[in-house]
Formats: sequence, C-alpha cells, structure tokens
Amino acid sequence: MAPVFTLDDLAAWQRPGTALAVVGHPIAHSLSPRMHNAALAVMRQTHAELADWEYFRFDIAPDDLGRALPLFLARGFRGLNLTVPHKVLATQWVSSIAPAARPIGAINTLRAENGAWHGFNTDGHGLAEGIRETLGLSLAGTPVILLGAGGAARSAAVQALQEGCASLAIANRTASSLQSLLQDLSPLAGAIPLRGFDPQNPPSDLPSGALVINATSAGLKESDPRPINLAQLPPPAAVYDMIYNPPLTGLLADARQRGLPFANGLSMLVHQGARALHLWTGHSVPVATMRAALA
Ligand code: NDP
Repeated sequence: MAPVFTLDDLAAWQRPGTALAVVGHPIAHSLSPRMHNAALAVMRQTHAELADWEYFRFDIAPDDLGRALPLFLARGFRGLNLTVPHKVLATQWVSSIAPAARPIGAINTLRAENGAWHGFNTDGHGLAEGIRETLGLSLAGTPVILLGAGGAARSAAVQALQEGCASLAIANRTASSLQSLLQDLSPLAGAIPLRGFDPQNPPSDLPSGALVINATSAGLKESDPRPINLAQLPPPAAVYDMIYNPPLTGLLADARQRGLPFANGLSMLVHQGARALHLWTGHSVPVATMRAALA
C-alpha cells in the first residue's frame, strides 16, 4: 500500500515529478492511490507526458486544510481528491467552483490552474455511471428514494434532479438536516415531485419500482442499524448502497433476500475517480484498469 503522508511531509516535499493526491482524515483505508496509479501506468504508454505522474495520499486534519491547500499548490501538485471531512470545508479555500458543483455545496476534486485551485464534484457523475453499469438503470425517468442528507446524499440528490428523475423522496435520521437539504434542492426540482420522510415511518404512498440509494454511513460497521426497513417500502426496482466496504451491507443483504437487484458503491468509487483523472489529464481514462486494481 502507498505510504500515508502528513502536513510535515508536504512542507518538506522534494519528490520530482507531477503529483496528485487524495486528502482526508483518516485516510489509511483509501484505495484511491492504487486505482489512480494503475490507470496512470496504462495511460503513460500512449501519453508520454504522464511518465512522471504519481498519486499519493495525505492525512490532513480539518484544522490544517487551510494551510495545506496553498502548500500543495506551492509544491507543484496538479490535482487533489478530497474525502471525509474536507468536501464542504474546502469550498472556502478555492478560487472557483464548477457551476455543476455549486448547488451541492461540496467539492471532491481540485485542479490546479494558473496558480490557484478550482473545485469540482465528480461524486454525482460516479453514482449515475455506477448505477448504469451495475444495475442497468438510468436516473432519468426513475423514481428515486434517497437515504441520507450528508455530503454524498447532496451530490446524489442534485444528480438525480439534474438528470430528470421521475420523483425524489429523501429520508434522514435527523429531521433538521433533511429539512435544510430539501430547502436547498427545491429551486432545482422544478416540476419533479420532491419530498422528505422519516425513515422509521415511511409514508404509504411512496412509489413502487423506485431505485433506493443509500447515502448514509449506516452499514459501514456490522453493528449499524439498517438505514431503512425495505419491508416498509412498496417493492423497489433495485437497491444501490454507496458503501463498498463491507461489500454486502445489511441493507444489500435484505435486498438480496427479497430477490431485488442490488449493487454496492465500488462502481461509484471507480467512476468518480475516472472523471477526476480525466479532469486532470484531459485524456480518456481506462475505467476497467481502475476497477481491476480494486478487485
Ligand atoms: P456525512 O457524514 O456527510 O453524512 C452521513 C449521513 O449518514 C447522514 O445523513 C447521517 O444522518 C447518516 N447516518 C450516519 N449514521 C447513521 C445511522 N446509524 N443511522 C442512520 N443514518 C445514519 O457522510 P457522506 O455523505 O460523505 O458519506 C455517506 C456515505 O457514503 C459513507 O458511507 C461514505 O463512505 C459513502 N460514500 C461513498 C462514495 C463512493 O464513491 N462509493 C463517495 C462518497 C461517499 P444524520 O443527519 O442523522 O446524522
């Protein structure tokens, strides 16, 4: 596994070559270096300018992010991925945010341009592509039941509305964060029916044939409760869980037991990463190589 670097390592950074990195806290679990370095190894066979590109990982505490981001620029880093807990925090430290990422209020990809960081969010794209690839479903025209109101749920909701889902119903444990998400989404929804509900008590008129997307972190630990009881929903079309480790969450085990199509978040991880690598290099990215590197 790639070593985990720190703010002190960054301050003393003298490695030659073009650097990329994922930045999070904690970060030791991240598979992104493996996935990106495998893709770069293939891409440099046809794009000689990528010969010295390498992807690293950094553990940076939230309080240090404001110091670290200019330092990454000064040390010549070309691009960064941001993960928990930096996606919202970083929006205050960048020069611009891509229009598609603005309604999300969070960024997961930074690109260095003219001595400044520019922010993007590739999570929604990764989710849509992952769902297409694993479940053969498009968000467009599909009723969506989304679980969660954190950063990942925000990018999922914006993507679903932008792609023209048939309807969007969002459930979250904490009502106040659900309300604030619904408020932020309402200008985007237009004619698309948008509602919130209590996951403990789903309303009886939710649509059948919906795509259920888990964007909560409930399921990361074996002892976690299910984010929803599938038996309380009208029969869904499929269940997608953004969690990929463990590969079969309790929610996905329930889906399997009910004979529903299901998939975990590995495909989302791959496609959000592929979009980021495309933003940095400008080249098409070998998605199959990235997927194989995680297998
Ligand atoms: P946040 O911390 O921003 O949000 C966490 C969400 O999970 C909140 O809605 C929170 O509800 C809910 N939640 C946490 N614990 C529980 C619980 N025990 N029961 C019910 N709900 C719970 O995290 P993110 O939005 O950034 O990430 C959410 C998940 O998505 C994570 O598991 C992450 O790994 C995954 N993810 C996967 C990606 C991929 O590429 N596959 C990309 C990005 C994220 P409340 O408001 O009540 O606290």
